[in-house]
Amino acid sequence: MSDATAEDTADMKGFEGFSYLPKFDSIEEERRHRKERLAAGFRLFGRFGFDEGVAGHITARDPELLDHFWVNPFGMNFSHIRVSDLILVNDKGEVVEGHAFVNAAAFAIHSQVHAARPDVVAAAHSHSIYGKSWSALGRLLDPLTQDACAFYKDHALFDDYTGVVLDLEEGKRIGHALGDHKAVILRNHGLLTVGHSVDEAVWWFITMERSCQAQLLAEAAGTPVLIEEEAATLTASQVGSHVSGYVSFQPLYAKITREQPDVFD
Ligand SMILES: [Zn+2]
Repeated sequence: MSDATAEDTADMKGFEGFSYLPKFDSIEEERRHRKERLAAGFRLFGRFGFDEGVAGHITARDPELLDHFWVNPFGMNFSHIRVSDLILVNDKGEVVEGHAFVNAAAFAIHSQVHAARPDVVAAAHSHSIYGKSWSALGRLLDPLTQDACAFYKDHALFDDYTGVVLDLEEGKRIGHALGDHKAVILRNHGLLTVGHSVDEAVWWFITMERSCQAQLLAEAAGTPVLIEEEAATLTASQVGSHVSGYVSFQPLYAKITREQPDVFD
């Protein structure tokens, strides 16, 4: 059993020999693996300072109950989250495993993104400083750097803001804006990224936040030179694939789990 799809393995050019997504002997093993990546993702969000009060959530679809997802308990600091703290939420927004509340916005947004995108295993969102600053401009990112090309023609803008997302219709509209892309910029709010693995969704969030920072810096300093379309398209295929996102996450996962082994508790 594996998270990989045919599409994922078709884009492995440059990564031949690398064992992409791990294989599992049982659903329990796969679930445990997904929860470990998710808890580590939160520790990284904490490390990068992506927390802002009680805002922000990363979700991982359950490998068996496909309309359920694992998420952070409401009000718990990202930096403290352990595997055993994660809660399982069903399609009605009820917590069916764990003893905590689910953030209402987490359910409104993520349930609809997971429903709109059956291929997506995980979705990440927070009110990180550069992401929300960039979001206020109501613009897509430009292909200014090699890293930013991961989002070239592969992200969207949710060009609306009407308050905290608490109703499912708003979540549906966000899912619609996301389309088949890996990320959506929520105007006046922040970033949301998705992936075929937790690894991928978390990596896209981290690198998108930094691409927002890079474009803000470059535009503050002068007039940036854009990468031309042909080169941007090629680079997108190199740094923006599912496998590339997965691989890019691994050094961060190794670092955070070595430094904070209690994440596995
Ligand atoms: Zn939010």
